[in-house]
Amino acid sequence: MKTLLGLTAAPGICSGKAYIFKVPDLSYDPCKIEDSETEKKRLSEAFRLSFEELDRIKGALSGSLGVEYGHIFRAQMTILEDDDFKQEITGKLDESPCRAETAVEAAYKMYEELFSRMDDSSCNAQRLADLNDVCKRVLRNLLGKDDVNLSVLPPESIVVAEELLPSDTATMDRKHIRGFVTERGGCTSHVAILAKSLSLPAAVGVAELTRQIKKNDFVILDVRDFEEARIYINPDAAKQKELEIHKSEYRKRQEDFLKMKDLEAVTLDGKKITLSANIGSLEDLANAQSLGAKSVGLFRTEFLFLKGNLPGEDEQYEVYAEAAKKLAGGMLIVRTLDIGGDKEVKALNLRKEENPFLGLRGIRLCFKYEELFLAQLRALLRASVHGDIRIMFPMISSVLEFRKAGELAAKAAEELKSRGIRRRSDPPLGVMVETPAAVFLADELTREAGFVSIGTNDLTQYILSVDRGNEDIGSYYRTFSPAVLRAIGITARAAEKNGKWTGICGELAGNPMAIPVLLGLGVAELSVTASALPQTIAQIRGLDSGKCRKIAEKAVSMATEEDIKAYLKEEIRPE
Ligand code: PEP
Ligand code: MG
Repeated sequence: MKTLLGLTAAPGICSGKAYIFKVPDLSYDPCKIEDSETEKKRLSEAFRLSFEELDRIKGALSGSLGVEYGHIFRAQMTILEDDDFKQEITGKLDESPCRAETAVEAAYKMYEELFSRMDDSSCNAQRLADLNDVCKRVLRNLLGKDDVNLSVLPPESIVVAEELLPSDTATMDRKHIRGFVTERGGCTSHVAILAKSLSLPAAVGVAELTRQIKKNDFVILDVRDFEEARIYINPDAAKQKELEIHKSEYRKRQEDFLKMKDLEAVTLDGKKITLSANIGSLEDLANAQSLGAKSVGLFRTEFLFLKGNLPGEDEQYEVYAEAAKKLAGGMLIVRTLDIGGDKEVKALNLRKEENPFLGLRGIRLCFKYEELFLAQLRALLRASVHGDIRIMFPMISSVLEFRKAGELAAKAAEELKSRGIRRRSDPPLGVMVETPAAVFLADELTREAGFVSIGTNDLTQYILSVDRGNEDIGSYYRTFSPAVLRAIGITARAAEKNGKWTGICGELAGNPMAIPVLLGLGVAELSVTASALPQTIAQIRGLDSGKCRKIAEKAVSMATEEDIKAYLKEEIRPE
């Protein structure tokens, strides 16, 4: 038995078999060439295997995520069936003796150059991204390497990886995953947010993980502690028995919280708090509603774009309209596309950046790809007839950016008008406060914006200048830093002065130790991942708002995160 330690990313306790997710090494010796007939045979076989794999994934995805996701893989199968594509590769083999791998890569390069000479439309970028995926698949089959992806998983899998990016998990097989463990990543990285939305435990920053664990090892993932996660690899019978007891106790506590799910989030002295859910899809919304969500404080729409294709206006409209209808009048805050940083959209073929988190991200990318942004805004304005949709812009760092986003929303409205499409009167426009600039400009921004929601995941990263996804500097990512708490206070006071409300949609909103402080700082809405909803309701119902104010005052007056945490642990003692 081995025990590894990591950082808590999403709470829970589970057991299962290790599924190692590792992108295969596709390097090869280009000089090891068979005769061209043998290379052609190898190529045909690799095409056949690739086609079969795609067919399998297509079937699995159509069943789990819906036929539209199956179609993405159908498009790739069409490439494999295309005679011109195959001809292009075999032509290279006939031209001069080379390996089939070299011919595949040369054919891809040829198409890449061809596409780059065409208009830079997102449609070409999408086709090139599909072609790239297909060529990599064929290459991998030529090299006889296993297909490692998360779309088709064995039952009871604990996904083990060096790192999990949004593009890796976009089409994963949710039904068979029990939990996640990664070597890299911080506690607000993508995998943490994803795991919480699925109510699954996750541990990140586990040193040496991929060297210590093998495929199919039996793993118990114990993430009951708020800071430290434990990973038991092939535990002995006694340990298994002990952990089974913890597992059932944990489940019992969750069931107790669940009984509270339909109660109001109101403090002992009668202060109502808007408790909303963070979602990334309609499936997330269904899960959140089953856990008591009545409103959504953050719909991360970029997940609609990470699954392989770029959804157009109509496709997006369907999703937003469906979400609004499902909430039956409950607030639905939709964040406009927040691509960039660690969220790569293959179909846009974006240039790799030196500092992606300081680069073409969020609203900046939307301004660059204005048509993409306008299509999303039109879809949202159209969907707003079906409920209380509010639009929120990410990564705002100046008042002019907020104004420009508003002008584009007005332009989208004009376009709809000229098409004779009806829509509700203008939905409220909000600012996501996640840059220090937005905190310093909170007064000016909240004079113009309808509401603000603080994205503490990024705000912490930018205030403390610490990459939120880098586990090596995880200890510098101080969630309870007085600098961050004071920034929240500044924002909430400015919003209140201007008669607007402040929400929190970063991970801090669901942290039991932070909740009294946030309420005491004047936050009116908490938007948390689905799994945290019942527990948060239970906690709010046991709080007194006057006491929260005192706790917040004292916490923000302290000089260090360590002091604040020690004080809060003593004062609050989360269950
Ligand atoms: C945040 O930054 O706090 C946030 C909610 O957005 P994301 O985690 O998607 O960047
Ligand atoms: Mg953010």
